[in-house]
Amino acid sequence: MIDLHTHSTASDGTMSPAALVRHAKEMRLEALALTDHDTVEGLEEALDAGKHEGIEIVPGIEISAEFPESTLHILGYYVDFTNRAFLDNISILQKARNERNPTIIKKLQALGLDITLEEVVVEAETGQVGRPHFAQVLLKKGYIKTPHEAFERYLGKGAPAYTDKFRFAPVDAIAHIRQAGGIPVLGHPFTLKYKTTAELENIVADMAGWGLMGIEVYYSEHSPTQVRLYKDLAEKHNLVITGGSDFHGQNIKGISLGIGKGGLNVPYKCLEKLKARVKDVQKH
Ligand SMILES: [Zn+2]
Ligand SMILES: [Zn+2]
Repeated sequence: MIDLHTHSTASDGTMSPAALVRHAKEMRLEALALTDHDTVEGLEEALDAGKHEGIEIVPGIEISAEFPESTLHILGYYVDFTNRAFLDNISILQKARNERNPTIIKKLQALGLDITLEEVVVEAETGQVGRPHFAQVLLKKGYIKTPHEAFERYLGKGAPAYTDKFRFAPVDAIAHIRQAGGIPVLGHPFTLKYKTTAELENIVADMAGWGLMGIEVYYSEHSPTQVRLYKDLAEKHNLVITGGSDFHGQNIKGISLGIGKGGLNVPYKCLEKLKARVKDVQKH
């Protein structure tokens, strides 16, 4: 069993990259991909820990791309995370995140909540500061009862303190991953909120034209029907099939590493096919 979609403290997970790798060993995973949001900060630590624990580590990233009214995440596997142009591109996203945080604070304060950016930064410890850390501070101060409530009442799309941030267009996110030798994969397609199968198929066809190379078929939140649909689409467009839990540690309750909500089981052969694709890319 493997898990190709996880987050560490380098983004919005609660385990350090090394702790995550140790946890993967406990869960008896053969391979683990670290795919933090818009950052490759945790990859070196994860790769080192993988060597130490004897677990195969797949370097990855998850890039948020612009998509009206819904969420489009593109996973990038085996990106060269020392590639200067790639690092410059993702630093644009880091900057956008950092610029967003003071705005969220101002909006929360305007709503009469007692919260400062310093408190949120402390909550994030060493990783990038994101909305889950705002939620934790609000939780500790008793403004909400669960992190989920923080998103519903204050931080999520459509809520009063929601603040949008710059994202790459999908075509650019794919290009940036390819430029760094990586394999771009459409993450959890259900978040695209497509209304018909034909609509999703058009999106996938467009993205394949832009250089998309895979679809995340196995995922904690995917129903068996969705898994079948995404698998068919992947086969039709000659895309690799990946899968993962989207484990965030304690930040997302009910999702376990490797097994998701309990029924997830990503076969190692997905990784074999992914690696074969990497070899193809490097040959050309
Ligand atoms: Zn995602
Ligand atoms: Zn994720």
